[in-house]
Amino acid sequence: MTDFRSDTVTQPTAAMKAAMLAAPLGDDVFQDDPTVNELQRYAAELLGFEAALFAPSGTQTNLIALMAHCQRGDEAIVGQQWHTYRWEGGGMAVLGSIQPQPIEHQADGTLALEHIRAAVKPDDPHFARTKLIVIENTTGGKVLPLTYMNSVAALAKELGLNCHIDGARLMNAAVALATADGLNPIQKARQLCAGFDSVSLCLSKGLGAPVGSLLLGSHAFILQARRLRKMLGGGMRQAGVLAAAGLYALQHNIERLAEDHQHAQQLAEGLQRIAAEHPLLNGKLELVSVHTNILFTDIAVEVAEPLLAYLAQQGIKLTSSNYNKADQYYKRVRWVTHLDISASDIQRTLGAVQKFSG
Ligand SMILES: *Cc1c(COP(=O)(O)O)cnc(C)c1O
Repeated sequence: MTDFRSDTVTQPTAAMKAAMLAAPLGDDVFQDDPTVNELQRYAAELLGFEAALFAPSGTQTNLIALMAHCQRGDEAIVGQQWHTYRWEGGGMAVLGSIQPQPIEHQADGTLALEHIRAAVKPDDPHFARTKLIVIENTTGGKVLPLTYMNSVAALAKELGLNCHIDGARLMNAAVALATADGLNPIQKARQLCAGFDSVSLCLSKGLGAPVGSLLLGSHAFILQARRLRKMLGGGMRQAGVLAAAGLYALQHNIERLAEDHQHAQQLAEGLQRIAAEHPLLNGKLELVSVHTNILFTDIAVEVAEPLLAYLAQQGIKLTSSNYNKADQYYKRVRWVTHLDISASDIQRTLGAVQKFSG
């Protein structure tokens, strides 16, 4: 099977499972699971924060961060497409009584600094109190550059706001930027986080762990986060069995994200080459974007439906959503590369697309 639906589908490897089996365990709600403690210590040191907290999901680490930074009636500035705004069930409003202030994105995935500045509300009883800026990196696979991240952190400081990174795929950004300028990905990840008050990082996406996310911040912030995690039902007991997988992921699976990025590029180039000469796909399959490990294509709906069914029959799984552009109906198809997709899976997929005959 070749599963492009998400980088969350990876299976733990034999070596990762061995680390899970061997992990010393305790009750993490009492803070005496040595493996959870080690993961939290290791991650905080890696990214240059005072402390870290392990939680079941990135949705939860984001929600904890929002609730730690904002009180009832406060406001968080987010992007229209940010996961925190669009893909987390409205949790900040429902559970945190926090008002989201969404901002339209620029083409490069950033929120314009002048738009952020303009969205901050004056101290007036008519308005919610603006407290937090949330930035997502990568976003839809797009890498927000270091200069931009530094500018947001500086702007937050100037405006007296806190700032949080939804870094579910921060390591993909770090690897992409590090490759371009010859640094190691960890140094780059630290630079991306510098000046931010908190960061949420998924272990269960490209890094390949089965479960778990980390929240990083100051000692005082993590103390508050621990209380919120318990309140939200995220206090886990012998969680070291999961933390061991996360620790293994941080120690072994960061640099290899570069392979996933190469595979996404090869897939994009291959699909374009095939579409240019294919009797059914020519003019019907269009590359929208390829950044880090995420590729989007628009495929005319009359071709997309049989193509996706044909690929599914061969064990090639994809996600898609309907898309209307200049009165033409398309499926916007998302192809995500990860640890369980090899170079030969890319070749097999391109071969299958080439042979598609309706
Ligand atoms: C996946 C993801 C999350 C968290 O998702 P969970 O499935 O709850 O771990 C948060 N933000 C972004 C940008 C993501 O892609």
